Amino acid sequence: MSKTIDGNAAAADVLTRLKVAVKQLIAETGVVPSIAVVIVGEDPASKVYVASKGKTAKECGFYSTEHALPTQTTEEEVVALVEELNADPRIHGILVQLPLPDHIDSSRITQTIAPEKDVDGFHFINVGKLGTGELDTAFVPCTPAGSMLLIERVHGRDLSGLNALIVGRSNIVGKPMANLLLKANATVTIAHSRTKNLPELCRSADILVAAVGSPEMIKGEWIKPGVTVIDVGINRISAGSNGKSRLVGDVAYEEAATKAGAITPVPGGVGPMTIALLMANTLTAASRAAGRAVALELAVIDAWR
Ligand code: NDP
Repeated sequence: MSKTIDGNAAAADVLTRLKVAVKQLIAETGVVPSIAVVIVGEDPASKVYVASKGKTAKECGFYSTEHALPTQTTEEEVVALVEELNADPRIHGILVQLPLPDHIDSSRITQTIAPEKDVDGFHFINVGKLGTGELDTAFVPCTPAGSMLLIERVHGRDLSGLNALIVGRSNIVGKPMANLLLKANATVTIAHSRTKNLPELCRSADILVAAVGSPEMIKGEWIKPGVTVIDVGINRISAGSNGKSRLVGDVAYEEAATKAGAITPVPGGVGPMTIALLMANTLTAASRAAGRAVALELAVIDAWR
């Protein structure tokens, strides 16, 4: 049986270190890290995520504001709010919860956020910095950054000689994950919906990152013994006939756990790390605004070594 990678414990570690750093920043500079979260519409899952982010921000000692806008809000109104937050010196991080309603161009909104406040790491400037390895001044998207910290717990920071396969090529998870794995010296393959022979590719991976959005698609028999599995997928499936549901990942956990060396569960794996790294990015934004050029997510990684 494999070792479960406990994302809740890892996230708690990050947040414990972060709270110390927050107190230090406030004591030395008077700057209180702050995050503004914007949500448009009534998507129930988004509401849960936003509430959880706000709660964690407060626990970390941040100043946190939530801007909940009705579904019919226009794109121009969202742009105007983001521009207002960009200009507000009290706000260090801005997060616009995705997905946005269909009539709003998500890309335009994402690119309106000032790069130095883009704690999600989706602005082209931050994407480019990650792609070129300029991590000291970038923001790295939270889910891939959190996934890397979980991988480090198993393999350390240098992945030389290891084959990493990412299933999924989204801008939010797959592509930034590939850049981080490359930076850590892994040999990286990205698979997607047009890839042939996915089971065969999976069998060659030492590290398998699943970011597809397809419940339990990756089977236990596809993976090689001893592999490290990072399951990013979050899929709600029905659990019985009484209308109940449960969350599963993109990997068939029970099957994979019998062969993997280490594996993240769903829930309790990557999910908590995403929120912890959002807090880390916000602290980094505040630190930079206070004239301190720290990339906190990297400092957190260093603290683990
Ligand atoms: P996207 O829908 O943007 O991307 C999914 C990717 O999977 C695409 O690249 C797609 O390929 C690929 N894909 C789809 N079907 C197959 C298939 N049969 N074989 C191989 N590849 C396939 O999803 P995201 O990256 O945004 O999210 C992926 C999952 O991660 C979701 O379940 C999401 O809920 C979860 N998630 C979890 C987070 C967390 O905090 N734990 C945060 C963000 C996401 P193609 O490009 O060819 O269409």
